[in-house]
Amino acid sequence: MLLRALISLLALSAVNADSPLSNVGIPVANMKLADLRDTFNQARGTERRHEATDILAPRGTPVLAVEDGTIKKLFLSKPGGITIYLSDPTEHYIFYYAHLQGYANDLKEGAAVRKGQVIGYVGTTGNAPPNTPHLHFAISLLGPDKKWWKGTPIDPYPFLREAALHVRG
Ligand SMILES: [Zn+2]
Repeated sequence: MLLRALISLLALSAVNADSPLSNVGIPVANMKLADLRDTFNQARGTERRHEATDILAPRGTPVLAVEDGTIKKLFLSKPGGITIYLSDPTEHYIFYYAHLQGYANDLKEGAAVRKGQVIGYVGTTGNAPPNTPHLHFAISLLGPDKKWWKGTPIDPYPFLREAALHVRG
């Protein structure tokens, strides 16, 4: 827990520093600050925390790559539904997208994507409430083994907040 707290703190202080995460873009088209739910530490069940930010958006809204990177895994899980694991170019971080309605056409594991590219669509698959379409978005710091399912969670909210505030137009 101490390590996690420390990593969260480091991540937080990196918002304005020269970190790959300071360049994170918006994961949902037309995302506004008011669409974000700052619920990283919210309890989910007795043992788990949410460890993600939920972004409210109408069903079918395009979901975007937040960074240039590689599609590491396209995965169907019971809680997450249709999900995407995207790595940044340095493979230090994984960006996790869940509850998608579907993937963008032709999206494949191993594909290189560009920041802002449409990779999927907002939905309610997995355990999302059917009347509340949203993107569940998480960031994890990968260990030296680079296993996409084994990273340490980092609170995405500060980075998403920055991205929302700096979108022009
Ligand atoms: Zn969520």
